[in-house]
Amino acid sequence: MQPSKPSQVQPAAQGEGEMPFDDSSQQMADPSAPPIQEMERIKGYEEIVKPNVTHVTPPPPSYQEATQGASVDRWISNKSLTEDEARALLVAEAKSKCCWGKGAAEGMTISSLQKSTAVHYVLRTFVETRSTEWASVPFKGQPVDGPQNGQAPAPWDIHVQQPEMFRDARMQCEVPHTASVRTCHYCMGATFVMCLRCGGFGRTRCNSCRGKGVKGVGDNRRQCLSCGGSGKRTCFNCRGHGRIPCPVCEAAGQVKCFVQLTTMFKTHTKDFILEQTPLPDELIRNVPGATLFNETQPLLNPIQSCPEQQVNAASASLIQEHRVLAKTGRIWMQNHVIRGVPVFQCDCQWKDKEFQFFVYGDNRTLHTDGYPQTCCCGCQLL
Ligand SMILES: [Zn+2]
Ligand SMILES: [Zn+2]
Ligand SMILES: [Zn+2]
Repeated sequence: MQPSKPSQVQPAAQGEGEMPFDDSSQQMADPSAPPIQEMERIKGYEEIVKPNVTHVTPPPPSYQEATQGASVDRWISNKSLTEDEARALLVAEAKSKCCWGKGAAEGMTISSLQKSTAVHYVLRTFVETRSTEWASVPFKGQPVDGPQNGQAPAPWDIHVQQPEMFRDARMQCEVPHTASVRTCHYCMGATFVMCLRCGGFGRTRCNSCRGKGVKGVGDNRRQCLSCGGSGKRTCFNCRGHGRIPCPVCEAAGQVKCFVQLTTMFKTHTKDFILEQTPLPDELIRNVPGATLFNETQPLLNPIQSCPEQQVNAASASLIQEHRVLAKTGRIWMQNHVIRGVPVFQCDCQWKDKEFQFFVYGDNRTLHTDGYPQTCCCGCQLL
């Protein structure tokens, strides 16, 4: 990040120029970050350079070697679905859609109803990362814990309250012994800054008449009531003063600068779906099924004993991918589960048209492509 541009923040240099509209937005980088090059070097925090955030790598992990994964048995869903139930589900679906006729669902012939079990493997890794940056708050006489009190602790030596495992959180705290009081870098101690909404004019162009003072054309042309015909309105941001109290120091003129530690706890998730039918695989992800296997360890070993070899391979490669997270953060806990989700494939015929639908998940979710009796979108039958 460039240090904040003084030209943008100088108090009220009233210049000539186009008067801005009311809706001109004030956009700039976080102004409470003081200019880095002016900050003294704090031992252990010299690395905070452009951009004003440094991600700190954790010390090497002290994990015990993960234990061997437990064994996984072959599993077939015990859920069942009769042809009558399948038909009833499709009829209900047809009734709920305005463009589907229910005749096809009621009159179709079911040529086969096949059951299979989709396997859903999910790996979650709970990781803590830390970063540091220079920050400031208005100085109003509060205590200042500076380098005179001792050496600042290293980022990973600072105690941070840990949330429950797999519960994401973001926390910020001041690094001890890094604070100092400085003249506000935003207003240079002036306590106020130019209003950016009106550019210091105190007035903005009237939005209602676009600054013309009149509205309408021909016989309808009349004075703008919003601005009384002047084409200008008092700036609501500064109430016409052209300047506002400095938002960084809250008009104190001074700020307390310190190194701020940001700690993130985040759950990273990867998954793999093994599904044999034409049903789109990703639909398995969000329906309930049975949990076949569930293991939580600080560091997991891949599953090796699943009867489905593709699941073993996916477990190995996803766990390998997540090991990379230990390079930039601290892995606290990993969890992986295997879920079994029933899938019923129903092949049907109606008036010489063949089609398929699927009933999947423990909650019997329905999916179909190419329902043969629709009147819009596909316009297959009116
Ligand atoms: Zn203003
Ligand atoms: Zn107007
Ligand atoms: Zn200020």
